[in-house]
Amino acid sequence: MKSIDELTGVEGKRVLIRCDFNVPLKGETITDDGRIRAALPTLNQLRAKGAKIVVMAHLGRPAGAPDPKYSLAPVAKRLGELLGATVTLAGDVVGPSAAKTVAALKDGDVALLENVRFEPGESSKVDAEREALAQKYAQFGDVFVSDGFGVVHRKQASVYDVARLLPSYAGYLVEKEVKVLRKLTVEPERPYVVVLGGAKVADKLAVIDNLLKVADELIIGGGMAYTFLKAKGYEVGQSLLDESKIEACAGYLKQAEAQGKTILLPIDVCTIDPSTLDFANRTLGSDVVVVDVDEIPADREGADIGPKTAELFAAAIKKAKTMFWNGPMGISEIPVLADGTKAVAKALADSDGFSVVGGGDSAAAVRAFGYKDDDFGHISTGGGASLEYLEGKTLPGLAILEEA
Ligand code: ADP
Ligand code: MG
Repeated sequence: MKSIDELTGVEGKRVLIRCDFNVPLKGETITDDGRIRAALPTLNQLRAKGAKIVVMAHLGRPAGAPDPKYSLAPVAKRLGELLGATVTLAGDVVGPSAAKTVAALKDGDVALLENVRFEPGESSKVDAEREALAQKYAQFGDVFVSDGFGVVHRKQASVYDVARLLPSYAGYLVEKEVKVLRKLTVEPERPYVVVLGGAKVADKLAVIDNLLKVADELIIGGGMAYTFLKAKGYEVGQSLLDESKIEACAGYLKQAEAQGKTILLPIDVCTIDPSTLDFANRTLGSDVVVVDVDEIPADREGADIGPKTAELFAAAIKKAKTMFWNGPMGISEIPVLADGTKAVAKALADSDGFSVVGGGDSAAAVRAFGYKDDDFGHISTGGGASLEYLEGKTLPGLAILEEA
């Protein structure tokens, strides 16, 4: 990958850059701006070089059409505060407003295009649709810088296709993330333990196969756990469940056993009455009840690991020399459902081994608990991207930079 340190003569040139600004929001308030901060070294460097900077980013998963709920307006505001400069947000992605905004840039200025996922071509599976959109992006830049580590596992127009059209460079964040994660793939000190949780069940189940090959032990909590518990024959009530993956989970459990590896699952869980959960306002209107995993009532939802599980997981982490953790153990945005995630965070922070925390919500959780970046070996901005990197997969957004 070419580094932006090799990028010379960009004064007055337009640098199109992909960042990962997919920050957690409560209403219009950014609850963790870590991903925006992580982009500052590259952006400041480009500004110092006198480039005209055009930023592409996404927020959430809008349905390929403009949706004010997913506007990057809160991001533009926060980025401006952090840069100490005005950041102009275009009213569209590649339309007349974007063209006008880019044309008005002066040296060192920063503009942000609207959420790239407002364009159906961005995430299209049809190559020609992505390529057509990438052509439009490419008209806004003389060179392309890829710095959105959290999206480099996506074959998307603003990550992959545009890099085929312009001279392309890796930003400082992408360089740094790859350097740290490589440490986990090249002879990691053992035992190597991977902790998985969170809510993107289907996405993340796919990584287990390969993680079983590289890690010694997998610890599974969060929303991920219930499909496994179901596969073991437990009833999971209203908990997050991916019916289509039950058999696959049963297969992973068998596979682990055959390979002499451990998949550690919850033995008790904190359950809630889901009708009393108001996630938007981060409130729960009823009690949390702890039950063993063979006693989850049909009308309740498992929303955190229980105290016995927290101890079990912490003990396993204590024995590890290398740790990677992605995905909260419960709905940790709600304080009464954060204990399991706190226990895992503490176990990692207390460890003398090398620990990496990855993922937008996981990073937000540990920062909300008061941890600093240097309490861990590394806090990665990428969840899915780091997992796929650790699996040994080729990430399209990195491969295309290596080709360049
Ligand atoms: P990351 O952003 O760290 O990669 P994910 O996006 O996969 O993690 O998952 C984070 C989300 O998972 C959080 O919003 C959290 O509330 C949710 N979550 C965790 N455990 C559960 C659970 N048991 N049931 C429902 N949602 C959960
Ligand atoms: Mg997330």
